[in-house]
Amino acid sequence: MGTKLVALIPAIAFVLIALIETMRPRRALRFGRLRRWTTSFVLLASSRFTVWLLAWIIAVPVAASWAENNSIGLFNQIALPLWAEWLGAFLLLDFAMWLQHLLTHKVPLLWRFHKVHHADPDIDVSTAIRFHPGEIAFSVIWKAGWVLLLGVAAPIVIAFEAWLAANAAFNHGNIELPRSIDRLVRPFLVTPDMHLVHHSTALKEQQSNYGFALTLWDRLCGTYRNESEKGRDLQPIGLSEMQDEQPTRALTSLELPLT
Ligand SMILES: [Zn+2]
Repeated sequence: MGTKLVALIPAIAFVLIALIETMRPRRALRFGRLRRWTTSFVLLASSRFTVWLLAWIIAVPVAASWAENNSIGLFNQIALPLWAEWLGAFLLLDFAMWLQHLLTHKVPLLWRFHKVHHADPDIDVSTAIRFHPGEIAFSVIWKAGWVLLLGVAAPIVIAFEAWLAANAAFNHGNIELPRSIDRLVRPFLVTPDMHLVHHSTALKEQQSNYGFALTLWDRLCGTYRNESEKGRDLQPIGLSEMQDEQPTRALTSLELPLT
């Protein structure tokens, strides 16, 4: 499959989840879609612009030095069958994303940016793209470091990115999986009900279920939480200090890290 086709996968997942949550919403939205979705897309556009800038400032020189010396990185040092390299890279990159997410909650400067994602007073597929460009900049540098350290081949990085974004669209979706399916999927993948707990206003629930795709690292590191203390249907969402319509505004969301 070509790179462009792989990049389409998260977009298809986004549209699909948006259609399902329109037809059968899991929870009633408090602030509706129009302004929240506009804000999410404004944040996405500014994040894309930041990534484009960073690519020219950092990624291009890094890629050039990479081309000169392509023997750096773990996977270039050990001879593995192709399937093992893909599996190992997916698991370790997923751990890198889990650790990044944990850090954005624990390091005050990073939390200033990540709380823009959590400030959404509702949760649906648009929340999956609601990240401040400052957080995206940190994420790109963090991920580039891991890719170099591990020596992950470009096709694997592209496939992982598509897989991660498609999973984020799925587990932020305002959709209800039948409980039996949720139970079957949860040992492996983060489900919407599992990620919902992470968007709780309660701090200890916010600081659990950091996974964006695999549930493995939360289970291994003791940060897995099955359900909110208030239950799935009554659990309040967002930041306890911002329960009004303020975070649905684009400008407020962009300025939030500075306040
Ligand atoms: Zn978070």
